[in-house]
Amino acid sequence: MIIIVKNSYDDKQLNNLIEWVEGLGLSTNLSKGHHSTILGLVGDTSKVDIDLVRSLDIVEDVKRIQEPFKKANRKVHPDDTIVDIGGHKAGGGHFQLIAGPCSVESEAQIIGVAQAVKEAGATLLRGGAFKPRTSPYAFQGMGAEGLELLVKAKRETGMPIVTELMSVKHIDLFDEVDLVQIGARNMQNFELLKEVGRMGKPILLKRGLANTIQEWLMSAEYIMAEGCSDVILCERGIRTFEPYTRNTLDLSAIPLLKEITHLPVIVDPSHASGLSRLVKPLSMASVGAGADGLIIEVHNDPQHALCDGAQSIKPEQFKDLVDHIDVMLPLVNKVRDV
Ligand code: PEP
Ligand code: MN
Repeated sequence: MIIIVKNSYDDKQLNNLIEWVEGLGLSTNLSKGHHSTILGLVGDTSKVDIDLVRSLDIVEDVKRIQEPFKKANRKVHPDDTIVDIGGHKAGGGHFQLIAGPCSVESEAQIIGVAQAVKEAGATLLRGGAFKPRTSPYAFQGMGAEGLELLVKAKRETGMPIVTELMSVKHIDLFDEVDLVQIGARNMQNFELLKEVGRMGKPILLKRGLANTIQEWLMSAEYIMAEGCSDVILCERGIRTFEPYTRNTLDLSAIPLLKEITHLPVIVDPSHASGLSRLVKPLSMASVGAGADGLIIEVHNDPQHALCDGAQSIKPEQFKDLVDHIDVMLPLVNKVRDV
């Protein structure tokens, strides 16, 4: 349920209203936007007498929200959420470029790639230390050591870092991580979602391999229900019947999400296609569809990458991609964060 508060409200009246609602056992979500002030009520709203609320002096209107996601719902928070990641912004017109290898493989590799992608225009560095692999015999990532190397690359380049958390038992190792990634395979690991919602860090929530947009937003809701408002959604392709590409990039999810949620939406064209030659066209298509950023796998030597070489582009290809999206960004009213 949302209560649209009159522009003429005074703070005392509003606080009384919030206290009364919370006294009914509901939690509240206050959004003071440019054009309106909205009080979102989350919980069992059947106890709220709508007519009584509507009759209050400071209330313009009251509406029930049909969707099961509340905190992530644009009706509760009409303005775009802008997420700050170590001083770099995503959402609300700020376009974020995240790049780096699939996995951290060595000090020379991660620092070399970090310097190259920074030079080309990336602002955040990605790199997996704990890798969710389909086969238990495949390279599982360097683990804690990989995380240390990622932190070293952060110190060398000044780039905030993004990496995947697969298990609650590793949370203590993530102190220096600026944006915590929840991978596609863990999108519905609800215990993990609750824990990351309490980390006090921004979260990058990738879409599950076969999950609907609503299920994805319910997972964001799990994180937000724990008090975290800084969730970034990442469309990374879904599983379809098409075998030419690793997944099928759901481009329509981007403008649709922009309608129904206030959270920033970024796109991972690398995992979506599995093919390095498709990364640039899919990146441009994503910008055209309204994405708030891209996360791209870049490797100095894709042929010898320990993971996802076929979809990794080289730093010079990444530079060319950035040049192309720079031409497009003004058309979609976005400014690339530098
Ligand atoms: C990744 O980004 O490294 C990754 C494993 O992606 P996803 O969870 O989307 O498969
Ligand atoms: Mn990968």
